[in-house]
Amino acid sequence: MDVAVVGAGAAGVGAAWRLAQGGASFQVLEARGRVGGRAWTATDLGPGPIDLGCHWLHSADRNPWVAVAEEMGFAIDRSPAPWSRTGGNLRFPPGEQDRFRADREAFWGRVQAAAEAGQDRPASDFQDPESPWNPLIAAGSTWANGVEPDRLSSLDHWNYDDTDFNWRLPAGYGALVAARAAGLPIVLDCPVRRIDHSGTVIRLETPRGTVRARRVIVTVPPPLLLTGAIVFDPALPDKLSAAAGLPLGLADKLYIAIDRPDLVPADGQAYGHVDRSAIGAYHLRPLGRPYIEGYFGGIVARELEAGGTDAFFAHAGDELAGIFGNAIRGHLRPIVSTAWARDPLSLGSYSHALPGFAGARARLAEPVDGRILFAGEACSPHDFSTAHGAYQTGLAAAALALEGI
Ligand SMILES: Cc1cc2nc3c(=O)[nH]c(=O)nc-3n(C[C@H](O)[C@H](O)[C@H](O)COP(=O)(O)OP(=O)(O)OC[C@H]3O[C@@H](n4cnc5c(N)ncnc54)[C@H](O)[C@@H]3O)c2cc1C
Repeated sequence: MDVAVVGAGAAGVGAAWRLAQGGASFQVLEARGRVGGRAWTATDLGPGPIDLGCHWLHSADRNPWVAVAEEMGFAIDRSPAPWSRTGGNLRFPPGEQDRFRADREAFWGRVQAAAEAGQDRPASDFQDPESPWNPLIAAGSTWANGVEPDRLSSLDHWNYDDTDFNWRLPAGYGALVAARAAGLPIVLDCPVRRIDHSGTVIRLETPRGTVRARRVIVTVPPPLLLTGAIVFDPALPDKLSAAAGLPLGLADKLYIAIDRPDLVPADGQAYGHVDRSAIGAYHLRPLGRPYIEGYFGGIVARELEAGGTDAFFAHAGDELAGIFGNAIRGHLRPIVSTAWARDPLSLGSYSHALPGFAGARARLAEPVDGRILFAGEACSPHDFSTAHGAYQTGLAAAALALEGI
């Protein structure tokens, strides 16, 4: 075939879509028994679809999934995100929110100044040691980047481009990616173990046989290049060193059913605490549905993953009881929690660059011999860590693969 695509997440689906339009012969080889990767909507767990991975159409005013949703008849909710509404933040008085936001702005202003001077340092270097809001700023970093500021490249973070438009898909982001994949030639349960590019034809070895292709688009998360789950022959040491600078940070979700929805406001938000970083952020009754979405990032998410849903629920129950009173406990029931760090096919939630590695994304994305192309959110220069960044890199890699075919 002309092209083999490794992985059927948002990037692989984007690549496949573009290859189909270009008339190439191709196949997508996916290790899981489903498409979507980190875009995954569960429809059988609760009242309404539940996104276990991506959820928000970030930078929605220029997010290519919006056009896909409109074309495919998916409804889009354009109401403002709860974290952008001062009034939606419970037990966090507006005056304190203003002071928090001012300190956070000042922090990111220092990051910007350093980035413009070309400095790539731990983002924590730019925190004001006197600010009482450092723990909450760090918690925000774990939700946005999956990691605390001391392991976050200041320059990479500055490269992220966010237009502050955040919309939602009531039917689920994962459902949209899966709908886009329908009808494309995707082989499930087909992990690629080895990519032999020593000859004129590239050979991809899988437990279901060897696939031969003229070009390959690799979309697996960077940590999988390091573990040896997928091996290149000859080896690609530049890719391994780029991947080493781009671990996946961790963000996990816990969905909690509430049998007295009137106890919490629809589409409200609450932080577990505002004076520490090991906390959950709670989205209350998203879209008015009778559940709460807890969001946990970085170190606390890693610790809670070890104890499973019980540990997430115990942590969340204490924090929600602190906000709404002890009586709420009797009205909560865990629905599901995620464990993205323990998922062997992603090993985390979304990529961040380690301090000193802001250049790693461009090195990872660089094609090899014009025949081995890389895509996936980690390759996106300005929209990394997102499903739209992943999709765009897939489209771009496919366009390159089509050249000369
Ligand atoms: C909890 C959570 C919340 C998130 N929230 C948002 C959000 O609100 N908005 C947003 O835009 N983004 C969000 N993201 C990030 C977003 O989901 C990802 O950036 C995006 O889906 C990544 O797509 P991808 O194609 O690059 O990678 P993946 O989705 O990881 O796809 C790679 C695919 O490769 C497969 N694979 C791995 N190894 C092999 C192999 N050897 N052979 C064959 N196949 C293989 C995997 O199974 C996977 O299907 C969130 C992620 C998580 C986990």
